[in-house]
Amino acid sequence: MTYPNVLLYIDGKWRPAGSGRTIPVLNPATEETIGTVAHADPADLDEALAAAEKGFRAWRLVSPYERSKVMRKAAELMRERADKIATIMTTEQGKVLAEARLETMAAADVIEWFAEEGRRSYGRLIPARAPGVYQMAIKEPVGPVAAFTPWNFPINQVVRKLSAAVAAGCSIIVKAPEETPASPAELIRAFADAGVPAGVVNLVYGVPSEISEYLIPHPTIRKISFTGSTKVGKELAAMAGQHMKRVTMELGGHAPVIVFDDADVEQAAKIMVAAKYRNAGQVCISPTRFLVQDGVYDKFVNEFVDGARSIKVGNGLDADSRMGALANHRRVTAIEEMVQDAVGKGAKVATGGNRVGNKGYFFEPTVVTDVPKSARAMNEEPFAPLALISSFAKFDDAAEEANRLPFGLASYAFTKSAKTATAIGAVVEAGMMSINSFALALPEVPFGGIKDSGYGSEGGTEALEAYLNTKFITQTGV
Ligand code: NAD
Repeated sequence: MTYPNVLLYIDGKWRPAGSGRTIPVLNPATEETIGTVAHADPADLDEALAAAEKGFRAWRLVSPYERSKVMRKAAELMRERADKIATIMTTEQGKVLAEARLETMAAADVIEWFAEEGRRSYGRLIPARAPGVYQMAIKEPVGPVAAFTPWNFPINQVVRKLSAAVAAGCSIIVKAPEETPASPAELIRAFADAGVPAGVVNLVYGVPSEISEYLIPHPTIRKISFTGSTKVGKELAAMAGQHMKRVTMELGGHAPVIVFDDADVEQAAKIMVAAKYRNAGQVCISPTRFLVQDGVYDKFVNEFVDGARSIKVGNGLDADSRMGALANHRRVTAIEEMVQDAVGKGAKVATGGNRVGNKGYFFEPTVVTDVPKSARAMNEEPFAPLALISSFAKFDDAAEEANRLPFGLASYAFTKSAKTATAIGAVVEAGMMSINSFALALPEVPFGGIKDSGYGSEGGTEALEAYLNTKFITQTGV
């Protein structure tokens, strides 16, 4: 496979930046430059804005039924092209090929689900106080959308925003990640090849802050959706607030995993090892703070450490690799610093803790135990293959620790007791909880956080709602 030089997609055309400027793209497994991505300037953004304005005016008038046909075709193309797209994704992002393929196939499911859901964007009739009066709540597309997405799931992070917007009748400008640009470009290509009209879907890259500062205040843009860190999310939400734009924010997490004495410990460890080291831990819903009840603590740690040690780290393109390179050097530095800091404060490294090899951003699946709450890793999102395990005595202790941080995205619990499951589900402050499983992020279920993890949902009926305005019309017969 030759890695493509990635272009902008504006008003139905693939083209370089007006200035001809490009940004190099690296393969995180080799640290070699593999290609370039076009760097948009304000003149390119103006064209994208004009296209999105034009695209919206046309697309909003296309029926949800017709929109769904185009979207289902895009889903089909993603499935047909999955092998090629997965190879591109692994080459630019580092994750293993099986995960890249799964992400590509899952994107097709997301597109199809929103294609169908768009056909059910019902309003309602509200009973009136007098005869002959019809009170109607009608759903209308919110308008041109600006979407900003990160590098950890180059396709998945785009497809949720793109599919919801397009299904609702909006147009969209996607600012996809410069570090992993080619696989999201393939997603856009599937929509283009499926026949989405010019201007409805646009793709740009460049300097993230320059693009968000240009697009968010622009009067054409009516809705912002961002996935990334809490810090950047707060800045963009503040900017959107100043310009009264609707916002969805999917930000960082620090997911607690509460394992009770009565849990199936082997099963819990197996499920959580797979979840923790998927995408080398660079996942906003990654299980991170493991809180294990005293009675099963040693058993859980042993099982988990065994599982972590069994994961083969290597180039994501190699068939026997189970965890690939981290996506960029920043993640390697972050995990090294966090482990060092934790150890300095008294934590024990149960396994891992080191880089693998001296080329590529590889790091060992790492488990640290007895981590004091003051350690950086216990407070900041590691976004790396780092599991932090500590013990607790009583239900209330676990609940208190789970809710200690300002984050509230994913959470997990393992117990065989229905009473404990109900109680923990009620008490943990999080947008999502998965009990006895790792079963989040399907297109049909809500996906989103509370507190510093953001607001709004990127799954389920709520996700479509985020791209719709409610208009009220009252009509009296004459
Ligand atoms: P970062 O916070 O600068 O960037 C995160 C993402 O936001 C990137 O895609 C970047 O292009 C984008 N971004 C940054 N500044 C922006 C701006 N002003 N306007 C628009 N987009 C902007 O740094 P990073 O090193 O890439 O990631 C740091 C942390 O971000 C991670 O440790 C993790 O906690 C978090 N993160 C979360 C997710 C997620 O899925 N929620 C994904 C990626 C990163």
